[in-house]
Amino acid sequence: MLLKDKLIETKNKIDSLDAEIIFQHVLKIDKAKIYSDIKKEINKKDLSSIDLMVEERLKGKPLAYLIGKKGFWKNNFIVTPDVLVPRPETEALVEVILNENLQGKTLLELGTGSGVISISIAQENRDCFIFATDISIRSILVAKQNAAKFCCENIIFLNHDWNNEWLFPRVDYLISNPPYVDKEATTGEEEGIWYEPEKALFSKDKGLSDLKLILSKGKNFLNENGKVYLEHAPNQYEELNKFALKNGYLNFSNLNDLNGDKRVSIYQC
Ligand code: GLN
Repeated sequence: MLLKDKLIETKNKIDSLDAEIIFQHVLKIDKAKIYSDIKKEINKKDLSSIDLMVEERLKGKPLAYLIGKKGFWKNNFIVTPDVLVPRPETEALVEVILNENLQGKTLLELGTGSGVISISIAQENRDCFIFATDISIRSILVAKQNAAKFCCENIIFLNHDWNNEWLFPRVDYLISNPPYVDKEATTGEEEGIWYEPEKALFSKDKGLSDLKLILSKGKNFLNENGKVYLEHAPNQYEELNKFALKNGYLNFSNLNDLNGDKRVSIYQC
């Protein structure tokens, strides 16, 4: 079968960009080459690999899990079903932290997943030091692979559950994109999330339980002038602000993501 015919067939079944990415992945060529090779034959093995991936995509499996990577900030990160697929909204969190002067600072990231937040920060600030934790040992393995891929030596990855005792030193900045989705509010129709690790997505108390725990425990792990940076759902920021003020934080700011939704908040003692 000609590449051209297979591409047309595939683009009729799934999103056109997804189709191109699957072709690039299976045929191991870049996008330009897909079109310069358009009149070439595709071999049987590649045809069946494409069919298999299209089938999975049609069932709703995230493209990132099919090809094993996802672009985030400035890199293409390794991603497996053991970690959440990095979201573009999370780049807003990275962007605000990178506005700080991180020279010589220590950071703690809770729930690092594939490591995209810590690695994006560490790569641009070689002399800050980051502790990055996750409850899932499998996620730590993925994050470590990514750190090695992007040569980040200023991160230590730790397998840790924030519900247990925190044995960390105080830090200047505490960062987290914890689970914050309210499972009760889901309809079942959400695209892709049912393939992701539940532990990384859902939190009790309308999605606020882990965010609140991190704020309350985190307060005792901040250096003077330290700050907590949190990603959350757009409808959670008012409740979080109230909770933070009640728990001894003095200042906060709530920032928008690229869609104009309040997605990132900063809390300071
Ligand atoms: N932003 C993700 C979503 O809405 C959730 C990420 C998270 O829970 N940390 O699907």
